[in-house]
Amino acid sequence: MNTITAEILAKTSPLESLNILIEGNNRFVSNLKFNRNFLSQIEETKNGQHPHAIVLSCMDSRTPIEHIFDQGIGDIFSIRIAGNIVTDEVIGSLEYACKLVGTKLILVLGHSQCGAITGACQEKKLGKLTNVLAKISPALETIKQREEWEEYSEKELISEVTKEHIIQSVRAIPRQSEVLKSLLEQDRIGIVGAHYDVSSGKVEILTQKFI
Ligand SMILES: [Zn+2]
Repeated sequence: MNTITAEILAKTSPLESLNILIEGNNRFVSNLKFNRNFLSQIEETKNGQHPHAIVLSCMDSRTPIEHIFDQGIGDIFSIRIAGNIVTDEVIGSLEYACKLVGTKLILVLGHSQCGAITGACQEKKLGKLTNVLAKISPALETIKQREEWEEYSEKELISEVTKEHIIQSVRAIPRQSEVLKSLLEQDRIGIVGAHYDVSSGKVEILTQKFI
């Protein structure tokens, strides 16, 4: 697997970037990871980086992004924060990647058994963690509007809120950033929501936004 150059990145479409990640996850769950020479990749990237995708995911120790997508050094940007929440700082990082570096895909990756989502569902309060959980509350409120929500088990509720939070995050990104909205409208980037199952290693694509 070659290290990504500026020329390769320029020719990569948002959909191709997504396919690179999907194929990488297929290799990961099949235990067929590429045997990369990291020392060579360090040498090849020492003067610059051209990552094709940026992944916003949780800090959970079971979601190591480069492993999950079988990506090498210089292949992807990674933002990891509890509950894969969207903040101004996260938006700024996405803008840097997509506008200044030319990254083609934003992937928001939530996951099963997420402590942050569980905490939000249980309406936990703790120091500044409360601020993190408040970013997940809108997804909980949306699920609570469903007539059947009170019949959900806690596990089902957490699962539904996890997926709703991913979808709301995908929608929030262009809404909160004129820079990214413009790139999306010009078809220069794509934004995708996906879910990672910590019990199988499999990534499921939930939503795609390619205008
Ligand atoms: Zn998590």
